[in-house]
Amino acid sequence: MSQHQHKRISILGATGSIGQSTLDLIRRNSINFSVVSLTAYSRVEELAALAIEFGAELAVIGDERLLPDLKAALAGTRTAVAAGEGGLIEAAERDAEIVMAAIVGAAGLRPTMAAVRRGATVALANKECLVCAGDLLMEEVKAHGATLLPVDSEHNAIFQVFDFERSCGVEKIILTASGGPFRGRSFESLSTVTPAEAVAHPNWDMGAKISVDSATMMNKGLEIIEAYHLFPIEKTQIEVLVHPQSVIHSMVEYADGSVLAQLGSPDMRTPIAYSLAWPERMHAPVKRLSLAEIGSLTFEAPDLEVFRCLKLAMDAMMAGGAAPAVLNAANEVAVEAFLANRLRFVDIPAIVSDTLTSCDIKAPQSLSNVFEIDKMARREAAQHLAKRAH
Ligand code: NDP
Ligand code: MG
Repeated sequence: MSQHQHKRISILGATGSIGQSTLDLIRRNSINFSVVSLTAYSRVEELAALAIEFGAELAVIGDERLLPDLKAALAGTRTAVAAGEGGLIEAAERDAEIVMAAIVGAAGLRPTMAAVRRGATVALANKECLVCAGDLLMEEVKAHGATLLPVDSEHNAIFQVFDFERSCGVEKIILTASGGPFRGRSFESLSTVTPAEAVAHPNWDMGAKISVDSATMMNKGLEIIEAYHLFPIEKTQIEVLVHPQSVIHSMVEYADGSVLAQLGSPDMRTPIAYSLAWPERMHAPVKRLSLAEIGSLTFEAPDLEVFRCLKLAMDAMMAGGAAPAVLNAANEVAVEAFLANRLRFVDIPAIVSDTLTSCDIKAPQSLSNVFEIDKMARREAAQHLAKRAH
């Protein structure tokens, strides 16, 4: 990026792992960026400190009960404050050129949609929104001339090597997966794993929810659905390959047998920097890839018997309709219960599977349909949870 380029940016989910990495890059490139809005859900002090440091125009706290605390923390500063879902939408609607959508879960859908509807460039980390409402979101992207830049490392990799002009030459996309902390384990041996063990990812430092999703491999399941919406391909053209070193971030195979890949150290600041600077490039302070140091890259097929969530997501993608939204909602409920020590790790796929079986719902036609499905699936999942919780 040249010194003369300047972009205004809003960060939804500023206090999270992706939010922090984004702000780290902005801090180092302050000449190129100014911050419009920052949001969080409950971490008021962190949000206020960031708003002051970056001179944000607006700071929004998702949990409305915390608005007085945020007001007090930002009294006398130039930052305006707001709260609740309305506030999150307002943050997305402010006139930033780039909106980093990094709220976790379906809670990010409405604010992300608000950014899309004003034709912004949306750097999309929040994969759950595409899983719940991919068709609707992509329709809105087209209708409003928004630009969607995938931040998720695999999709960012594919975005960098996918020939959008001649997509008929693409034979398949290969999403790589690290396999998470429990790669190679038997299903039975996972019955006693703790939240601390599940969130200890071997390669990536991420928020708690996505770390558990990586341990169950639901993350890769959500990502195949995400890829299906982001790229002009058929469901049958998406493959998952376990690659424990997380060096190849994903690949595209073409009709002539060529396979193009994007490689790098496992550090989210690379795909985030790509999205912030696009279509230019900017410096990111990540460890340079030394293949000589790494020595060897290995690959294996995913074990669908152990990582049942991946299979459930594949089936939900093939089924289409409301299934991906139900899958996502049930997974959010199950992961939250696991993190609160109320559910065993091995029961996460059981909750998702039971909820998919008991929710027989039609495909969503509108955003409010998506929220109805999400609500119903959460209610259903909570009932299945009550039977299995300890
Ligand atoms: P974190 O849990 O670290 O951060 C989540 C952010 O969202 C925080 O700012 C949090 O606020 C806010 N938030 C949480 N719940 C709500 C809510 N109900 N309403 C509004 N805001 C909320 O998550 P990550 O940064 O790890 O992940 C964010 C998204 O990016 C996820 O969808 C994830 O799948 C995706 N992603 C993340 C990657 C990573 O490396 N971390 C890689 C690829 C994708 P507070 O801090 O106050 O709780
Ligand atoms: Mg990913």
